[in-house]
Amino acid sequence: MPHWIVPLAAHGAHSFAVELARYLAAAGGMTAILWAGARWTAARRIQKRAPAKGDRAREFGHSMLSVGIFALWSIVTLAMNQAGIIHMGFALPAWWQAALEFVAIVVVHDAYFYWMHRGLHTRAMFRRAHLTHHKSRTPTPWAAYSFAPIEGVLEGMFLPLFLLFVPMHAVVVLAFLLHQIGRNVLGHSGHELMPPGFTRFPLTAWLTTATHHDLHHSGGGHNFGLYFTWWDRWMGTEHPRYHAHFEAAAVPWFGMGKTKRLQA
Ligand SMILES: [Zn+2]
Ligand SMILES: [Zn+2]
Repeated sequence: MPHWIVPLAAHGAHSFAVELARYLAAAGGMTAILWAGARWTAARRIQKRAPAKGDRAREFGHSMLSVGIFALWSIVTLAMNQAGIIHMGFALPAWWQAALEFVAIVVVHDAYFYWMHRGLHTRAMFRRAHLTHHKSRTPTPWAAYSFAPIEGVLEGMFLPLFLLFVPMHAVVVLAFLLHQIGRNVLGHSGHELMPPGFTRFPLTAWLTTATHHDLHHSGGGHNFGLYFTWWDRWMGTEHPRYHAHFEAAAVPWFGMGKTKRLQA
């Protein structure tokens, strides 16, 4: 047996465990929050339809495959860093530098995701690469990584690709990964936790909501964006009734919550 097999296997197992922990903590955490806060969250369900039987198990199964693919990408990324092909420093940056790097990677990832996602919805790609994710018509937090292998590869390659062009501090990469999974499970939570007016208020209208991505799952051809509403607005792909659907699901944070009926 070649001498590198055992360390590589250990490295792979470690990367898998890290990716798995991130997924389980985020999707499990969101599930627990929705369950524990049901009195507050039940009125905020986006769809009347409940997830189909077996949806969660299917989403979890496909997500395990994606966790494996992401673990491979993280091994590739660390190997590229060791080889000096990319530059990810482990020292702590100044706060303004960290903020700048974080904004840059999130904004670029949002653009990458929008256009990759548009590509996945083409006739040539949809069945083989994206149908798996769209089997969740009523998504649950477990759908966060429910991808076909091709989509998993495309989703995971963003980070090493970005690092090829932009050197980053590891702590910012970690923040980016945590923000990514957090926003991802929120978008698949099936509940609109933001208050009414959020999609129209200038300070928040540029952020996507759970309703935004939920409409992509229930409706199909709109709302391809990830973190921000910009690309869908610029490209004319925002759902025409996005605001109406949002208002139907949203409930004010204080008062009124218990009396609102389920709509939309
Ligand atoms: Zn899609
Ligand atoms: Zn989705």
